[in-house]
Amino acid sequence: MADEKIKDIKNDKSETKKEKKKMGLSTKIFIALITGAIAGVLIHYFMPSGYFRNTVLVNGILYVLGNGFIRLMQMLVVPLVFCSLVCGSMAIGDTKTLGKVGVKTIIFYLVTTALAICLALGVASIISPGIGMDVSNVETSPVPDAEKVSMVDTLLNIIPVNIFNSLSNGDMLPIIVFALFTGVLLAKLGNNTSTVANFFSQWNDIMMEMTMSIMKVAPIGVFCLIAKTFSLIGFDAFLPMLKYMLCVMLALALQCFGVYQILLFIFTRLNPIRFIKKFFPVMMFAFSTSTSNATIPMSIETLHKKMGVSKQISSFTIPLGATINMDGTSIMQGVAVIFIAQAYNIPLSASAICTVIATATIASIGTAGVPSVGLVTLSMVLTSVGLPTEGIALIMGIDRILDMLRTAVNITGDAVCTTIVSKQQGALNKEVFDRNE
Ligand code: ASP
Repeated sequence: MADEKIKDIKNDKSETKKEKKKMGLSTKIFIALITGAIAGVLIHYFMPSGYFRNTVLVNGILYVLGNGFIRLMQMLVVPLVFCSLVCGSMAIGDTKTLGKVGVKTIIFYLVTTALAICLALGVASIISPGIGMDVSNVETSPVPDAEKVSMVDTLLNIIPVNIFNSLSNGDMLPIIVFALFTGVLLAKLGNNTSTVANFFSQWNDIMMEMTMSIMKVAPIGVFCLIAKTFSLIGFDAFLPMLKYMLCVMLALALQCFGVYQILLFIFTRLNPIRFIKKFFPVMMFAFSTSTSNATIPMSIETLHKKMGVSKQISSFTIPLGATINMDGTSIMQGVAVIFIAQAYNIPLSASAICTVIATATIASIGTAGVPSVGLVTLSMVLTSVGLPTEGIALIMGIDRILDMLRTAVNITGDAVCTTIVSKQQGALNKEVFDRNE
């Protein structure tokens, strides 16, 4: 284990030397995000609607390039997560260390989620976004089919019934459980299973190489995704729901730049500003794609190369976080509960608030890291305190932009936890973290 760590740190150093010479991918992604937003707004307001704009440009070029890029990233997720988790748990070897990392990570994820909901409930109670809202005046969208999400099933689904089904459906939690189990047993069986162990570690190398190749086209993907989104929604849709949106945004900002950074500093003494600066490209990527799952490869790479976080830790904590830790989503759900209760004039008791905190934490586990699922699991939270699920229709129209923002917060929470756990396990190369880009 100690040898592995030293090797990991040495690799970090040589890899990061090479990285320094390259033109920053982060800068390219940032430029793509800004120019994409400007292009989208220009298309929305200044380009006449017609065949060229709608069919050729927005639903043709931008859609194909943007979604093509998301598909490329999604293509990586299942094999990458599976192989890197098998290799990670195999390398950690003893179940004690793995258990320690696992328990710490899960506790951290649950606590930050509960904190996020409390923050959201607090902000929403102060701003009161739903007071004075005339429900009949708001344009509504159809409510997603939500009854299927039950709390017990959410927990039971962690155990795979058929791992091949889970792999082909991309169900992350069962995949994580099976991969961890496999890795631990490979370590235990040692030489007897060296062929299988080599197989996974070689596949892991291939997946890492593939991730790096695909990341090269990230700026094009980000540009197209953002340009398409803004060309479709412009700014008009937001006005009636501005107060609700501001509430969610304020709570997201407090969680991301306040709570996380304070926790990072308290537990690691690392510089939070440097952390945000280095992690920003991944946040922008999450913002443009609205999917935590697709950011897993980029997150692991960025934490490793720019912050010196050992892949042994991140290959376990990042996929787990992208699956069960959705602080941004919980914030939206907390604000939505208060908003809907106020809009329908239904008072919430103290015990109802406690129920919201508990169910939204579980809903966060059950929310898959793909676009808009947070709205579906919101129904579970609303039902738990007797609020009408029809209320979801009120906020659906403007959820697209909030989904982008909350996904960025979701994955930042995973990265902060990973950095903390990594530092505590002595698996973080501070030299890499401290180096200027
Ligand atoms: N889009 C979010 C994510 O991938 C999930 C959600 O809140 O809808 O993290």
